[in-house]
Amino acid sequence: MSGKVYLIGAGPGDPGLLTLRGKEILEKADVVVYDRLVSLAILGMCNPKAKMVDVGKMPQHHKVKQSEINKLLVQFACEMPSATIARLKGGDPFVFGRGGEEALELVNAGVEFEIVPGITSAISVPAYAGIPVSHRGIATSFHIITGHERDVIAAPVSGVIPAQAGISLDFEALAHCPGTLIFLMGIANMDFIAQRLVECGKDPKTPVAFIEKGTTPYQRTVMATLATAGETIVREKVTAPAITIMGGVVELGKSLAWKKNLPLSGKRLVVTRAAKQASGITARLTALGAEVIETPMIETRTLECPCVIPAVILEGRRPDRITGISSAIFDSLADFDVLAFTSVNGVESFFKQLFDAGYDVRILAGKKIASVGKITEKKLLEYGIRCDYVPEDHTGEGLGKLLASQCAECRILLLQGNLADDTLQKLLPRATRWVVYETLPVSELPEWKREAVESADAVVFASSSAVENFVKVMPQSVEGSDSYPEPRASNLNPRTSFCIGRLTEATARKHGFETITSDETTMDSLVKKIVEYYS
Ligand code: SAH
Repeated sequence: MSGKVYLIGAGPGDPGLLTLRGKEILEKADVVVYDRLVSLAILGMCNPKAKMVDVGKMPQHHKVKQSEINKLLVQFACEMPSATIARLKGGDPFVFGRGGEEALELVNAGVEFEIVPGITSAISVPAYAGIPVSHRGIATSFHIITGHERDVIAAPVSGVIPAQAGISLDFEALAHCPGTLIFLMGIANMDFIAQRLVECGKDPKTPVAFIEKGTTPYQRTVMATLATAGETIVREKVTAPAITIMGGVVELGKSLAWKKNLPLSGKRLVVTRAAKQASGITARLTALGAEVIETPMIETRTLECPCVIPAVILEGRRPDRITGISSAIFDSLADFDVLAFTSVNGVESFFKQLFDAGYDVRILAGKKIASVGKITEKKLLEYGIRCDYVPEDHTGEGLGKLLASQCAECRILLLQGNLADDTLQKLLPRATRWVVYETLPVSELPEWKREAVESADAVVFASSSAVENFVKVMPQSVEGSDSYPEPRASNLNPRTSFCIGRLTEATARKHGFETITSDETTMDSLVKKIVEYYS
């Protein structure tokens, strides 16, 4: 009983172009063996417990040989009975992806496998540049060709075609082929390829487009003709991965190029919020063109039952790990007039506990509800609950003062996480606090994510603890190791931070970040600030 290998096509880059089948397997994979062209967002979809193996090949720098990859797949399958092994490849696994070689090796070793096709870059990248590869009346066929074979010898861009260039490409046939020609992996050899096509009779005025990093936030289209192809690549510094497309259909790209340059196009941003809360800001930054790396710094866990912490006992100390008591605790809700929520997590965890214990929202009838700010207020509304008290400044202090002034005699219950500070209890000394969730710092980042984070343009912080933890899990960005490591600003990567809240800002500054802080403590305000910064 060996493990099963899935050869999965990851598509051209845009994570939305991964198939449902591919996603389903990645979410449960035990091992993911992936290539260089697979986007970070797709790696982020993989089972967080999966062993991630990078066999990516950089151009000119072969990291892992194909024969070794083949062996590796067999080895994983044999060593891990009933495991799900995902072999994740850019585009489609069988379109110049060497997927066939890997499958043959699996057959020979008697390993069970499945092919999950992907959207190939050959047609999707032109589509993202507004080029329909077989437009009626212009092209009756399209041809996908490799521009890089062992026996294609690259000529220096401005140099002479080497006479010995032994080439298996049939340039005569290609030059006379009326269809659209699409070259993958061809940038390094394109000067040579274009010259050979012209020599063999292809019209030098044939429109050519180079599309670099298609479907990603870094997509770029460069237009040329067959005659100017080589010099254009040098002048415009076209780099891999890029495809070259030749033929009349390229002209349509001038009117159909639909993918607009967005305010955050080409920016890589790290979002350090907890996974559950990150999706909102991630979606917005992505829609504005950024590539977002979600790197939560904390994980929150709803406790089984609320843990009661009367303010007097707490004395400013924060409980670290907490176990709940009995669900009968909800009967004591009758003792409170006001329920105060200070976070979305608090709302979600409280209701989960309440529902799990067999109660429903009727237990809150007649109570006043308070929220620290707009986001928590909105979350409460999802449960059908309107807030009676929301402070104007959206801070714990504001909430404490509001409640102290408006309902001094009320019996107040605070629903918070274990790390909540004691601002509220100081202002409301008679309040009771229930800890409904606990927050655990993330202790390390997978290597692929750390590398991605280091190459980002900026990091988004929504809390001081996120800053503190970020500095800890990115050890190479801090100096010193014994006592509390104080980083040097020059060592930080990325150095720029977008912060929500003055406290967050102060912590980020302390650690040497350049800070840009939102005017209000809302995501809207932060997103506006990010766009302003980059425009
Ligand atoms: N199996 C892949 C192709 C692998 S060969 C597929 O079906 O797409 C690798 C080549 O694909 C690159 O050299 C480049 O020519 C092309 N390619 C892959 N992703 C690309 C992208 N996002 N933009 C432009 N070209 C891409």
